[in-house]
Amino acid sequence: AGPAAPAAPAATTAPAAPAAPTAGKKRVTYIFPIYNEAGNIDLLHRTVSQVTESLADRYDVSFIYVDDGSKDESLTHLQALADRDDRVTVIELSRNFGHQMAVTAGLDLADADAVIIMDSDMQDPPRVSLELVEKWEQGYEVVYAQRRSRQDTAFKKLTASAFYLFLRKVASIDIPRNTGDFRLIDRKVVDELRKYRERDRFLRGLISYIGFRQTGVLFDRDERHAGVTGYPLSKMLRFAADGILGFSVAPLKLISRLGYFISFLSFLGILYVAGVKLFAPETAVPGWAFITIGMFFLGGIQITMLGVLGSYIGRTYAQSQARPLYTVASVRTGTPSPAHTTS
Ligand code: UDP
Ligand code: MG
Repeated sequence: AGPAAPAAPAATTAPAAPAAPTAGKKRVTYIFPIYNEAGNIDLLHRTVSQVTESLADRYDVSFIYVDDGSKDESLTHLQALADRDDRVTVIELSRNFGHQMAVTAGLDLADADAVIIMDSDMQDPPRVSLELVEKWEQGYEVVYAQRRSRQDTAFKKLTASAFYLFLRKVASIDIPRNTGDFRLIDRKVVDELRKYRERDRFLRGLISYIGFRQTGVLFDRDERHAGVTGYPLSKMLRFAADGILGFSVAPLKLISRLGYFISFLSFLGILYVAGVKLFAPETAVPGWAFITIGMFFLGGIQITMLGVLGSYIGRTYAQSQARPLYTVASVRTGTPSPAHTTS
């Protein structure tokens, strides 16, 4: 459902001239958040290097790897990458700040005309990034990769689709379905995104919120190559809460609606009791069991709603502390090498 094909398909002539001067070329940076991905880093870098060879004559391609406090050998692998490839920058965060912060750190440091955010476990196939670049050339500022299918557990698929359905219902933003953070964003959007310093980050929501021309590219999401997910259920739930609380006050409205509803029910109760007293004074209104159940029912609702209030207050508190979002321990830029080839 996209617009017309690109006006100028790449010429199939001439093998790319060796290392043309980089001036004038558009710059594209990949951002890879890394948390315990030692088993994936080398394959990932090899694959993106191969895939982006076809871009090299038109773009200056570089890679930012953000080590999000990995507990395995990831950092060593990354430093080795930087030592042999000068297109690589490695940001080391001082501890694990979470996926969204790791990507934010990369976005803050990136200085390119377009940024491509990708997972580092090979679930986001590197070749799809070429299609993102193609759409960007057609004038879109945000090109998100949209999953046609995904290789995840039934549980993850089910919870994810329920979550996005709910989010679309309650949130004030229109987040495209079946998208993750795998996307290309133009420099304009990156510049805007840098102004949003909220702590509980839901980047895909922010990017929708910011606007500009956005479009999608369909792809089939692969399985994680090596290692285990960095998103256990607890983190998934927090992330879901960030999405909902960050972009909707529907839960707050729910409190008053519940209040109205329960008041209405008690009003019906009052009518009933008054009716009985007036028209059948000899029948007693039974209800000790009802009183006890009603009390616990209301108590439950009240405590739950306090929790809803608490979630918003907690976020407000965290935000008012105004702490920096993350701390960078080191930045290592690649050492210049004679050629950009991978073989
Ligand atoms: N990640 C991260 N910090 C974390 C958890 C994950 O930087 O605390 C990275 C991880 O290395 C990967 C991406 O975020 O590149 C997505 O994580 P993962 O694949 O574990 O999530 P899933 O695909 O299972 O939802
Ligand atoms: Mg993954």
